[in-house]
Amino acid sequence: MSKETIVIVGTGWAGYTLSQKLDEKKFDITVISPEDTSPYTPLLASAACGLFDFSLAEEPVRHKSKKLTYHKARVEDVDFGRKVCKCRSACDVLGGESRVFEIKYDRLILAPGCVTNTSHTPGADEHAFFVRNVADAKRVQHRLKQLLELASMPGVSETEQRGLLHIIIVGGGPTGVELAAEMSDLFHDDFSVLYPHLAGKMSLSIHDAAPFILGAFEDALRQHSLKSFSKRHVRVLTGSKIKSVEADGITTETEGRIPCGMVLWTAGNQQCPLTEKLQTAKTDKLPRILTDEYLHALTPKPDQQPISSVYALGDAADIKKHFLPTTAEVATQKAEYLAKTLNSGTDGEKPFKYQQRALVAYLGGHDGVVHGRPEWSGPRAWAAWRSKNLLWTRSWRRRGMIAVYWLLDWVGGKAIARA
Ligand SMILES: Cc1cc2nc3c(=O)[nH]c(=O)nc-3n(C[C@H](O)[C@H](O)[C@H](O)COP(=O)(O)OP(=O)(O)OC[C@H]3O[C@@H](n4cnc5c(N)ncnc54)[C@H](O)[C@@H]3O)c2cc1C
Repeated sequence: MSKETIVIVGTGWAGYTLSQKLDEKKFDITVISPEDTSPYTPLLASAACGLFDFSLAEEPVRHKSKKLTYHKARVEDVDFGRKVCKCRSACDVLGGESRVFEIKYDRLILAPGCVTNTSHTPGADEHAFFVRNVADAKRVQHRLKQLLELASMPGVSETEQRGLLHIIIVGGGPTGVELAAEMSDLFHDDFSVLYPHLAGKMSLSIHDAAPFILGAFEDALRQHSLKSFSKRHVRVLTGSKIKSVEADGITTETEGRIPCGMVLWTAGNQQCPLTEKLQTAKTDKLPRILTDEYLHALTPKPDQQPISSVYALGDAADIKKHFLPTTAEVATQKAEYLAKTLNSGTDGEKPFKYQQRALVAYLGGHDGVVHGRPEWSGPRAWAAWRSKNLLWTRSWRRRGMIAVYWLLDWVGGKAIARA
């Protein structure tokens, strides 16, 4: 009997998890994505700050042990009637020319994620740095090293040095907070020793338009994080509206122009071009593809009926009347659920149920917070965060290698500050 073809669009937490969990004895699995690796996004801040090798912060889509077909391409549209994905290759080796082709599916899984939303802030797309994958993390580390060398040039005044070595993080969610934490550790413990002439001149600030940072955590933990950052000289500016981003600074409504060497933009999500194009029902916010509780994508209003053999999950999708945040936790739990129902032939029988796991954020200097456990703030939260980071990785090999890197960093200092 011929096997059904399942086409998966995207290799983020949702698409990658499904590609590995679907049973290749039952299905022909085809994965389409411009990215041939899946980033461990919770590890990107650590990778950017040199805690371990970049290759440990991502997982290749092709595995010797997994039978699947992979196309390095972008799905530009889907013809739901003909059950066909219209694709364009995403390999630059063809000398700039791209190939256009179609892939037929029996079942289609849409997981193209979101893209960063800079809210049309002038200059943000050109000048800000982002942290969505390993290539971004490498750019951030490269920029950090460049700034330190620029500030070390003869004739650079102290004011210029302080401007170059000021890093602005836009967004006070867990991603922005963890970047600030890892960078403050790097500045205090490593770069101030490697660059003694720059000690005390490196600074960090977090800007958020909301009245607080770490919005998903309870108020006592938000207050704890403010105190912790203040002790480590990380400035937190809430209610800060950024008017523009320039190559060497930002302009805000309240503070005017603020010089800096790098703007790290971590705030906001918006739909990706594929989601925008697809003729499906959408949520009002963001927007995301609307699904039922079995993750079937729905037709547009007014019918909102399941589209035959089409599923959507991850940041790109949300369940009607059961809205969930755009997180790796949600994406992986949905992917595991869908793999289980498809493998067992029980699609549409038992609805998806999300289980909230502990929210942990690192604040730097071995301090952290765990949502719902104020007594865990401090080193225990830091230990919980580190263990959680290890658990995100999918292979024992990567887990072991990251643990060895941490041990070496602890014994002999981070490789980034020994070079
Ligand atoms: C730095 C950082 C840290 C984070 N930390 C955490 C954390 O600690 N805990 C947590 O729960 N969440 C965390 N998140 C959020 C989490 O990473 C996202 O929620 C998760 O990546 C969503 O997974 P996804 O598969 O839906 O989308 P993505 O991971 O965004 O993947 C989308 C995939 O689709 C591909 N794609 C896009 N368009 C197309 C197209 N047209 N055709 C084919 N492929 C396409 C992309 O190339 C990509 O491979 C973090 C995010 C970041 C950026």
